[in-house]
Amino acid sequence: MSTFKNTPATDGINTRLSHGGGDPHAYHGFINTPVVHASTVLFPNTDTMRRRAHSYRYGLWGTPTTKALEETLDDLEGSAGTILLPSGLAACTFPLLAFLSSGDHALIVDSVYGPTRRFADTVLRRMGIDVEYFHPGRDGGIGPLMRPQTKVVFLEAPGSNTFEMIDVAAAAAVAKAGGAVTMLDNTWATPLFFRPLDHGVDLSIHALTKYPGGHSDVMMGSVSATAETFPRLRDTQMTIGVNAAPDDTYLILRGLKTMGIRLARHEETALALAEWLETRDEVAGVLHPALPSFDGHDLWKRQFKGSSGLFSIVLRGGGVREASVFLDSLRLFGLGYSWGGFESLAVLADLSDRTLATASPEGQVIRLQIGLEDRADLQRDLETGFAAMAAAGA
Ligand SMILES: *Cc1c(COP(=O)(O)O)cnc(C)c1O
Repeated sequence: MSTFKNTPATDGINTRLSHGGGDPHAYHGFINTPVVHASTVLFPNTDTMRRRAHSYRYGLWGTPTTKALEETLDDLEGSAGTILLPSGLAACTFPLLAFLSSGDHALIVDSVYGPTRRFADTVLRRMGIDVEYFHPGRDGGIGPLMRPQTKVVFLEAPGSNTFEMIDVAAAAAVAKAGGAVTMLDNTWATPLFFRPLDHGVDLSIHALTKYPGGHSDVMMGSVSATAETFPRLRDTQMTIGVNAAPDDTYLILRGLKTMGIRLARHEETALALAEWLETRDEVAGVLHPALPSFDGHDLWKRQFKGSSGLFSIVLRGGGVREASVFLDSLRLFGLGYSWGGFESLAVLADLSDRTLATASPEGQVIRLQIGLEDRADLQRDLETGFAAMAAAGA
């Protein structure tokens, strides 16, 4: 039964998020999909067992809880199938393992999420895979880098911490022509603002930990695939033996109900603060794809339907000490990793692993996650930070 049977594609996104993600009448009318804890599933008889003709086979293979989330993500991404994994990082590394073999060549965007890069530089290289990074500004220009052995092109749009935009359709077309599978880490945009498969990408990756979870209390990842690539992905998942836990899956299903309205608020406050930050003398640049001043703005506008609440600022001059004075004086912005929750966060971005899309020469890069607090309070908090920098003689 389709998860979204009560809400056709003509309904608006918030209607679909509210009414999708489960089938209440399969569970006596209870609105939310139940949490099914399971290892063993009983079959009615030997014949059914031998033919595997049963909706569910074993806990590892999924339950009604995991199926509800997989189908919801398929509806949102336009994918043929989705697998769930215990973290966003696992959702980045897993498809690389599934589609690469010894002797293959992988092209990865240089502004990729740091831990994805660490996996490529260690595990993939140890497996005999030739890992090569390319500058996000190359767009469709990865053509000259393609080799007969190139089996995967891994994208992230926008890039981690510095938000470089990519012409996704152009890169995916080059990859496809060369026989490579294209994967894209779509965590920043969520499927509400970008649907990679509509642009020729084969696999769309999410850290569900971020906006889908939305409350900083759960970790999960997903990979949504085309009909051609899904069988290999699911096969590898079941061969390795990893799936999402039921309670965590429930939290993601619950978070998705409000993701649309949360994102609208994150977007509005983040953009207002980004525009204000552009006017500040202490700020050399604001790295936010929805700002007309941003390098990749036109590419963003052409491909994306909206922007989320994560962007960076480049402080004018000063080093780590000055940036630390700013960060340590903030009251509402917490110092912590991850993002996509209700609370604002600020971190000093570490770009030391980049080889091509390197750090801004103008100053330290600070990444801001704009939460659901009131904008005026967040602005006052940032003003306090700038005042503390000035008082410290920065
Ligand atoms: C956070 C993040 C991940 C990893 O997600 P976890 O659930 O924290 O492992 C992957 N990609 C991007 C772009 C992220 O921001």
